[in-house]
Amino acid sequence: MRKFKTESKKLLDLMINSIYTHQEIFLRELISNASDAVDKLNFKSLTDESAHIEQGDLAIRIAFDKDARTITISDNGIGMTEAELEKNLGTIAHSGSEEFKEANAESQGDAVDIIGQFGVGFYSAFMVASKVRVVSRAFGEDEAHVWESDGLEGYTIEPGERAEHGTDVILTLRENVPGENGEEGENYDRYLSEWGLKDLIHRYSNYVRYPIQMMVTKSRQKPKPEDAGDDYQPEYEDYEELETINSMTPIWKKRSGDVSQEDYDEFYKSTFHDFEKPARTISFHAEGTLEYDALLFIPGRAPFDLYSKDYEKGLALYSSNVMIQEKCGELLPDYYNFVRGVVDSADVSLNISRETLQHDRQLKAIARRVEKKITSELEAMRDEDRATYEKFFENFGRGLKYGIYASYGMKASELADLLLFWSAKEQKMVTLAEYARVMPEGQKAIYFAAGDSRERLEKMPVVTGVLSRGYDVLLCTQDVDEFTFQSMREYVARDLPKVYEDDAAREAAEKAAADGAEPELEDRHLELKNVASGDLDLATEDEKKEAEEASREHADLFGAMKGALDGKVEKVAVSSRLTDAPACITTEGPLSLEMEKVLKRGPEGDVEGMPTAQRVLELNAKHPVFGKLVAAKEAGDDDKVKLYAGLLYDQALLVEGILPDDPVAFAQSICELM
Ligand code: ADP
Repeated sequence: MRKFKTESKKLLDLMINSIYTHQEIFLRELISNASDAVDKLNFKSLTDESAHIEQGDLAIRIAFDKDARTITISDNGIGMTEAELEKNLGTIAHSGSEEFKEANAESQGDAVDIIGQFGVGFYSAFMVASKVRVVSRAFGEDEAHVWESDGLEGYTIEPGERAEHGTDVILTLRENVPGENGEEGENYDRYLSEWGLKDLIHRYSNYVRYPIQMMVTKSRQKPKPEDAGDDYQPEYEDYEELETINSMTPIWKKRSGDVSQEDYDEFYKSTFHDFEKPARTISFHAEGTLEYDALLFIPGRAPFDLYSKDYEKGLALYSSNVMIQEKCGELLPDYYNFVRGVVDSADVSLNISRETLQHDRQLKAIARRVEKKITSELEAMRDEDRATYEKFFENFGRGLKYGIYASYGMKASELADLLLFWSAKEQKMVTLAEYARVMPEGQKAIYFAAGDSRERLEKMPVVTGVLSRGYDVLLCTQDVDEFTFQSMREYVARDLPKVYEDDAAREAAEKAAADGAEPELEDRHLELKNVASGDLDLATEDEKKEAEEASREHADLFGAMKGALDGKVEKVAVSSRLTDAPACITTEGPLSLEMEKVLKRGPEGDVEGMPTAQRVLELNAKHPVFGKLVAAKEAGDDDKVKLYAGLLYDQALLVEGILPDDPVAFAQSICELM
């Protein structure tokens, strides 16, 4: 007896004691494995001349035996060698096993989710079977092997017999469990019937592209005997016939009007191992020099490994019903890596190897079209079904932002309008276009603040300062946000009401509007500005003058404070962005405080020579604290100036969510003051 690996064991326990209510999906999982195995053989025979098979013979067969309580799922696909039986069925071989362990530890027995996330196909058999026997003969081999297990501790593999290549999976169903104390029991017998199996095949496997055949009992009228009298009553007899149960036409070849959303949802769930239905289904047929069908899905939730390095993007690529590649990455840009689906084109040639396939011009053409379709579908979702779109964005928005950043802003024209950000003024998610549409006249930039929590950002003096001037601020809480904005540099808002520079033109326009003319529109280039960086240029002429005067007047004080802060700040200046707070830290140059934080957290980490943000300590000249500083300087109390400078600097950083370099000294300074 060979033992299961620990993870497999845990999974089997889950399966056997499953609270999972959809146990009937075992059949679909086994049929889809059978279909994959046939696919693999089909592909081999089309690309490898030595492996010839009759296409028309490829099939999956289902049989059941009521007395022996068995269901058999057979295929004449590629089969498995002894080593493959060991590798594929002895462990959760696929890359998910580590993640499975982690997720299992975290979710503490939430079996439904785990089963859903991992698409643990074959093992689902143990939800209904007390014993599973797999007889398999690999294509091109003479020997067959038998894998057998009761799903508890381990399994055996022994030599066996099979007439041709392929696999039989034989399930011995569990005994029925009678209901008790009003609780429902388990009825496994329902799978041991023609109608029960047919029903499952129709529901879950209708679009499998190979025939799923089953012997079915039919009834026919017996021929009328020649000597039958006038009172002859027709007699009937039962006979058996092999019948193809599924429709076989691939779902993506059907016109979307002929397929119900339920069917699409079922197809999606079974093919992509997701237990939630897709958020959006996109089906289209392309004609012209290159003909193909495409069926794409936007998942309703992010796959568990989306942000891990093992995640592989791609669409399944078929040519004339044969799967050439399960995940053709070239068909999807990175920022749409979450999209699942199928592209089927008779024009994509089969016989090119996967390497040359990658550079195929045809694929590039398909990819372009696919990308456009996804974009327009997302736009439609954004405009027609905002709630679903917001959920979508929560799941996948980070990837879209990253797409802009990673392309150095080149993809901004496609992606920027798909982004959502939290508007401090509206208190909801808005697009950049929506932000621009309601801007007060004269606003020249889109303002944003970046940090790790919305609540904290909302209270930051630099944010409230901008808000109090009537301008909205986007509160950005993902680390990629500011990098994205920086790579975009600006956003072009389309079709805003034209702003007239000179009065004569404005009056003329107003008059024209009064006469019923359409208002003139214009595109406006809006800079993306962090409210805590650089010059926001928000001050009125008077305010500017005041600030300049104050700067001149108090040059000595600022010099002393800068000295006291000992290289921590580039300069100390009068602020034109503060309303209530005494001071804030802003930055000059390309790096903001938030970006500095993100970089420090990154893999390069806190190393020597890491670029740092150039900080400016801005003071609110209208705040009483400022008066105290001025007084201290005038009285020649340098110690006090030094103490205040340090405190103001540290508390302004605190507001930004950054701990003072020396928290103990900070605390002591406060006590000293008290
Ligand atoms: P998955 O199908 O998600 O990879 P499974 O646990 O269902 O995971 O199956 C594990 C592996 O066992 C498959 O990837 C495949 O290589 C192999 N396998 C399962 N069923 C068959 C079959 N009927 N014929 C050939 N190989 C199979």
